[in-house]
Amino acid sequence: MITINHGLSAYVCARTVMPALKKHSAISERSLGWAFLLGAALPDADILSKLLLGRAEYFSGVWYGHRAASHSLLGGLLMALLVAALLYRPLASRREGGSALAAYLWLTGGLWIGTIIHLFGDFFTPGWSMPIFWPAVVRFGSYSHIGWFTPYLLWLFMTTLFIAAGLRALARWKPQLNMFLASAAWLLYAVASWRWIHFVLISRYHSRGQWAEFQHDLLPELLITPINHAVSAAWYWMTG
Ligand SMILES: [Zn+2]
Repeated sequence: MITINHGLSAYVCARTVMPALKKHSAISERSLGWAFLLGAALPDADILSKLLLGRAEYFSGVWYGHRAASHSLLGGLLMALLVAALLYRPLASRREGGSALAAYLWLTGGLWIGTIIHLFGDFFTPGWSMPIFWPAVVRFGSYSHIGWFTPYLLWLFMTTLFIAAGLRALARWKPQLNMFLASAAWLLYAVASWRWIHFVLISRYHSRGQWAEFQHDLLPELLITPINHAVSAAWYWMTG
């Protein structure tokens, strides 16, 4: 479930850089947004090793296990190439004049950048380094920050998407305000992206108790407990 935070962190970043990307992209803004979002969820597809082969394999450190090949630059690229081929039809809505190859490459690029944003979010997690340059075995990361495992980020991203959807609806209703509302939506995405990166850098994880206390400094109990219960249930189902 908290993999959603990875996807949404990449999506808000995608929306922030979209004004620059869309000038050159061979696929639509919508396709590119989806590519970032899905790409940022891809590294955690290593859960398949648990579902197919069991918990021991998942945590064993083998190349197809958790935080192994899937959490590397090359692994991300290979997954992006494969997923772009599989989802080309439903996902790549081509811009006028763009070739199919250019659309495929843009889709692959969006997915790959999504996987790299996932690596950034995971990079600082204590106790979990990653083989960024796999197949080289040297591992990087593992500090005391968190870029994904918190209800706070889920609420931040969901609120951002909710307000942005409201601004889009308003723009459809009052087209004369389109420019202003589009700028407001961009600013919103930029602030959410900045806050996510800021959170990664300022958060500190030392123990479960300390982390729980930190969550209560950020959010009321009502917004924490249901998310934590859902995440625990999903985690035990996947890894128990
Ligand atoms: Zn991960």
